[in-house]
Amino acid sequence: MSPLATPVMFRKADRMSVGRDQPLNLSVSNALTIDVEDYFHVAALAPHIHRDSWTSRESRVVGNTQRLLAIFEQFDVRGTFFVLGWVAEQYPQLVRDIAVRGHEIACHGFSHRLVYEQSPEEFYAETLRAKSLLEDITGSAVLGYRAASYSIVRESLWALDILVELGFVYDSSIFPVRHDRYGIPNAGRAPHRMSIPNGKSIVEWPLATAEILGCRLPVAGGGYFRLLPYWLTRWGLTSINRRELRPFVFYLHPWEIDPAQPRVPASWLSRFRHYTNLEKCEARLRRLLGEFKFGTARDGLVQLGLLSGTVRYDESDHRLYSV
Ligand SMILES: [Zn+2]
Repeated sequence: MSPLATPVMFRKADRMSVGRDQPLNLSVSNALTIDVEDYFHVAALAPHIHRDSWTSRESRVVGNTQRLLAIFEQFDVRGTFFVLGWVAEQYPQLVRDIAVRGHEIACHGFSHRLVYEQSPEEFYAETLRAKSLLEDITGSAVLGYRAASYSIVRESLWALDILVELGFVYDSSIFPVRHDRYGIPNAGRAPHRMSIPNGKSIVEWPLATAEILGCRLPVAGGGYFRLLPYWLTRWGLTSINRRELRPFVFYLHPWEIDPAQPRVPASWLSRFRHYTNLEKCEARLRRLLGEFKFGTARDGLVQLGLLSGTVRYDESDHRLYSV
């Protein structure tokens, strides 16, 4: 399906905010994002879980994602779900359930292989497969992409060329921190339009970091949300909204609210990163949803004026089209 003529939902309330010269203001929503994958897809556990075993393992992604949908319903909040193609192929009804509730469907690749471990040809093929699958299921254009384990790093920036070629208009894969598996430590921290190797550009919304004493503190969610005390995450996110006067992007995985998930034998570090504070995560998420304003990544970028020129608002049907 071509993304060129496919409408995506667009709330009427956002119409007033569209514009290239829109000033930053605190009414812009922070992006609530979910990477829809199962516990056995996680990069930290990958050395201990063979891909061939995925279909025979107990899957918990549908139940956990439905729980997240119920929580978001309670708080009347919409978010962006970066769905793994493998999950969409196994559970297409889950993708429909997410979309029908007004959330944005975006792409998390197909195989959860790290981008920098793929050739450009492999990356093109699997990303096209995932995007086409999601668009066929929902009937709407998929505009956003997030790489497995934030694996768009300095050596794999070529992937951004391919994303533009495939019709994506924004990416949220760059983590501007130092980490053993991902990160571009000196990358821009705010959402911005960035030049890419082929001379074109794409909108990038980096994962949230707060600045403290000249250092970058990752407060974007996921393992950091579980490992850091809640007050520190809250302080960091508040500082982005109130001191830097801009929205942040926050992420979580469905398995992070599931303390009963099967345990996988793995290294001490991987077990620490994956299992710590799973039992506290849902309560923290509820608190976060009550304390910050959230919406989809797409709507946040439209409100910031960053998608001007890449999407077209149609007055007649109140929908947004990628161009
Ligand atoms: Zn992932």
